[in-house]
Amino acid sequence: MTTIRTRFAPSPTGFMHVGAARTALFAWLLARQAGNNGTFILRIEDTDKQREVEGSIAHIGDSLQWLGVQWDEGIAVGGPHQPYIQSERLEIYKEWAQRLVDAGRAYADPYSPQELDAFREKAKAEKRPFLYRDHRPEQPPAWDGSQPLRFKSNPQNYTWHDAVMGELSSGEEAIDDFIIIKSDGYPTYNFCHIVDDAIMEVTHVLRSQEFLSSTPKFLNLYDALKLKRPVLATLPFVMAIDGKKKLGKRDGAKDILDYGKEGYLPEAMVNFLATLGWNDGTEQEVFTTDELIKTFSLDRVQKSPARFDEQRFLWLNGQHIRALSLEELSKRVEPFWPESARSADPEYRLKVLSLAQDRLKTLADLPALTQYFFEEPAIDWSLVDGNKQLKKLSPAQQKELLQAALDVLASQTDWSAASIQETLNQLLEKTGQKPGILFSLVRIATTWAPFSPALDETLAILGKETVQNRLTQAVSDPR
Ligand code: GLU
Repeated sequence: MTTIRTRFAPSPTGFMHVGAARTALFAWLLARQAGNNGTFILRIEDTDKQREVEGSIAHIGDSLQWLGVQWDEGIAVGGPHQPYIQSERLEIYKEWAQRLVDAGRAYADPYSPQELDAFREKAKAEKRPFLYRDHRPEQPPAWDGSQPLRFKSNPQNYTWHDAVMGELSSGEEAIDDFIIIKSDGYPTYNFCHIVDDAIMEVTHVLRSQEFLSSTPKFLNLYDALKLKRPVLATLPFVMAIDGKKKLGKRDGAKDILDYGKEGYLPEAMVNFLATLGWNDGTEQEVFTTDELIKTFSLDRVQKSPARFDEQRFLWLNGQHIRALSLEELSKRVEPFWPESARSADPEYRLKVLSLAQDRLKTLADLPALTQYFFEEPAIDWSLVDGNKQLKKLSPAQQKELLQAALDVLASQTDWSAASIQETLNQLLEKTGQKPGILFSLVRIATTWAPFSPALDETLAILGKETVQNRLTQAVSDPR
């Protein structure tokens, strides 16, 4: 098996959103797929100090850990190429920059910002694109660190293979004498990521589409440094559901960790992220992380932008909740129980949970689905009035039905779900009502909740006394 070294190289400029998390996940899947021959690196690219947001580095680590995307080398865990924070590697970049200077492939920029502006203005007036290399100084000053250092490019046409996008090509105009070390001593992303990828022996560079237009510059730099190029894989943007705009906060581009607080499971998030623009060639939609590790491949990542479908995510989350063992689910839901459930008998709570498991779309649905098992719900006739079928009955007819249910259930001796169901079925026949009417009414009058698990089991767990009391109250409520 070949060695695979991938990296996730975020800039600490804020919280981690869906697009970045997907990039990290794909790089991680590729490394895990290679078993012991795979390494996933977490490197922090913090050379643009103005854009840095305090706390982001810790946040990036926490987000990856929540997802289960554990890195093998990088910040906090170390590794053979430490440090893994670029601002701590400035000497390395200086050394590599000096090599380019010595080879005649980098030079100090002698122009003032005003002079550069004048060049730009002139190009604009002449209706041609501004290229710095058209103004390359003949006798550049020696580089003393006070001026930006520029790459002396060697413009040419390129054709290259992108593991996702396929064959790509570019012309000379895509390559200019870009800055490699700024006057503040920090390297630019364009330069230092290439140095680090080479030193860290990265074999596959996965990154967002926003870097595609800069790739010809990178290729020119690989050539100048006589480096073997890694496999390049460009991941298309994640768009809002309409496919027209880039994902905004309102469409789901929020902090990954917020999804956890909202009751999403990390394995559902991983499944969702992986299938944002990737499939295994079959109809399968629900994947465990192990299945993803086995089946993921770059050549099945689609070239066009992916769409963020929050409804699909919700559905997937429900699927992953159902796949958990009751014991595991019970651990995960701990912070989501309603207050009134905290002092309840653990066995009773487990029974309620097992009943609710099938209906949970997120763990945060737990209170709405289970509160009435632990405390008396407030009577709320708007639930009846809001029901299309039930509102066809008059309040008197509704009460009559509830009274009939109360009568048969009160004389019920075997309080198992099966025999409750049988009794209700008999009542259905006797009254000639539709299940949608009778069962909904009983369900609402015993739970006063907008939705609940299966009626027979709900009543069985609530217990005969509680069911009787609630039905009696509903019948005698003045509404
Ligand atoms: N530091 C870049 C970013 O955060 C990473 C680009 C790359 O992976 O090369 O967008």
